Amino acid sequence: MIGDLQQLEISALTELEKATNEDQAQAVRTKYLGRKGRLTGLLRNIAQVPDAEKPLFGKRCNEVKDTLSAKIDEVLFQQSLRKKSDGLLKEKIDVTIPGRSVKFGRIHPVIQIRREICAIFASFGFSIVEGPEVELDYYNFEALNIPKDHPARDMQDTFYIEENIVLRTHTSPVQVRIMEKIQPPVRILSPGRVYRRDSDVSHTPMFHQIEGLLVDKGVSFADLKGILTAFLKKIFGMDTTLRFRPSFFPFTEPSAEVDIRCVICGGSGCRVCGQSGWLEILGSGMVDPAVFRNVGYDSEEYTGFAFGLGLERIAMLKYGVSDIRLFFENDIRFLKQF
Ligand SMILES: [Zn+2]
Repeated sequence: MIGDLQQLEISALTELEKATNEDQAQAVRTKYLGRKGRLTGLLRNIAQVPDAEKPLFGKRCNEVKDTLSAKIDEVLFQQSLRKKSDGLLKEKIDVTIPGRSVKFGRIHPVIQIRREICAIFASFGFSIVEGPEVELDYYNFEALNIPKDHPARDMQDTFYIEENIVLRTHTSPVQVRIMEKIQPPVRILSPGRVYRRDSDVSHTPMFHQIEGLLVDKGVSFADLKGILTAFLKKIFGMDTTLRFRPSFFPFTEPSAEVDIRCVICGGSGCRVCGQSGWLEILGSGMVDPAVFRNVGYDSEEYTGFAFGLGLERIAMLKYGVSDIRLFFENDIRFLKQF
């Protein structure tokens, strides 16, 4: 019987060696180790083995079973590996083809300018704050010394949500909201969207402004000039020439428009500067005592200055864009140039 067992092992291993696919390997398993298989058959006849040899016979049977079983698993594993690598070899891979590049988006030019300006004023010690775009008439107009029927309202006609709620026409209401909450010193910069009822090559119904406010003891017009000069030189270059021109805003007194020497023609006169050689860049002035009264600041003790500028205008001059509407048409060919 032991001899039969040995023979059985040899023939099973031989057959397994010849197995070229999974089915043939599985067939060897069934033939020898299956319920009606040959090894199982031998074990069933253990009664015919002399008692003295029975333990040895049983042990050998188990050994043969384990050996065959392991061998069959190994053959199956090898075959599955071969199948996979055959598949890979059939795939044609050209490792010299350049990879597909990822298309990166760009930061919108108006947002780029906004970040640049915020960074400059942050370096001057200003905090960046934001306010609501849907604003009360009180904050947008009245608290800024623009009562109902004031002619300044005509230039800032806007969208009314209700009689006393508007889409803000400038970022100036943020000044009032901040001053109501904190006592001086105040040093803030407030960027954001604003709305007016205008639409042409240099106006869109929605555009962006940045408002700045500085309030403290002993702030003078010299401080206003110093800060704005430093800022404009940082944005447009150290050799930028600027001038302060008297102007009027209801919430500042005195008020000044700030112009820079035309960046296109250098001052000789061109279409962009209307032949004047100068470009209007921002509005500014010393905060009107009436505004301080509205927020409960003592205008004898504190003085301050405020300024505001349009981000699209700065972006147009800096990047040489001739139509403001291009910024908001979302034409990818235009936007990816910046
Ligand atoms: Zn010019």
